[in-house]
Amino acid sequence: MTKFKVNTPFLAHCNTCNKEVSALPLLNRSDLLIALQGKGNVRVMHVATEGDHIWSLNSEDTVTLSNAIAKDLV
Ligand SMILES: [Zn+2]
Repeated sequence: MTKFKVNTPFLAHCNTCNKEVSALPLLNRSDLLIALQGKGNVRVMHVATEGDHIWSLNSEDTVTLSNAIAKDLV
């Protein structure tokens, strides 16, 4: 069993900020694991000065998050 917690921030690229930010998944744990298996988009958010930015992870960041969970680093 992984110790991954869905409320743990991880680095992802925000298109609006055009930089790496600490993002939070908007899915619960089971939905997130399903999405990471390629069956859905991983919706994430982070708080910016003008408001929340919400987007779906690109395939590269999805793989990064998936690998981090597999290694229990997130
Ligand atoms: Zn942003």
